[in-house]
Amino acid sequence: MASEEHYDFIWKVVLIGDSGVGKTNLLSRYTRNEFDAESKTTIGVEFSTRNMVIKGKTIRAQIWDTAGQERYRAITSVYYRQAVGALVVYDITKRHTFENLQKWLSELQQHADPNVCVIIVGNKTDLREQRTVTHEEGRAFADERHFSFIETSALDSSNVGEAFNNLLIDIFKKQVEESE
Ligand code: GDP
Repeated sequence: MASEEHYDFIWKVVLIGDSGVGKTNLLSRYTRNEFDAESKTTIGVEFSTRNMVIKGKTIRAQIWDTAGQERYRAITSVYYRQAVGALVVYDITKRHTFENLQKWLSELQQHADPNVCVIIVGNKTDLREQRTVTHEEGRAFADERHFSFIETSALDSSNVGEAFNNLLIDIFKKQVEESE
């Protein structure tokens, strides 16, 4: 069995998107299976890690959270440096967070590696009564740009593992399989 210390690859993945869309809770759900209904601002933790095995290789994902920097439009280029993947998150109940996606993608493209893998994540599907962005709109936005797409709920855990794991599988294809 692979020990926690052993890994074949370590990959930096960043979470981006407007404040309040659920980035911190997606990360804590994925890495610690926790949800915090009271969380207001992300303070402190810069990244969390989780290992995953793909085709016999142990991948250590080092997943970075913005630590609330996006509130002040002050995400530095260091945040994006050496990222090989990005979860670009919006809130399906807040249309402006969807409309801001292009701004986040532009910032990512400006600072990250041109080969960075992207998954567009529409979060808070448990709030179905308050939905203002349809599944089809989210899908079309991602398809036009050849990105992956998924809808999640950090509250009820729906698709959270899939969002991170699908991104890691995409990175694996690009970083490992295409270079073989
Ligand atoms: P961040 O600013 O993007 O890191 O967002 P947070 O993870 O801090 O979440 C902002 C608020 O949305 C908090 O009150 C969370 O409890 C809430 N939240 C996050 N994800 C979900 C979700 O999937 N469903 C619901 N209903 N609330 C969520």
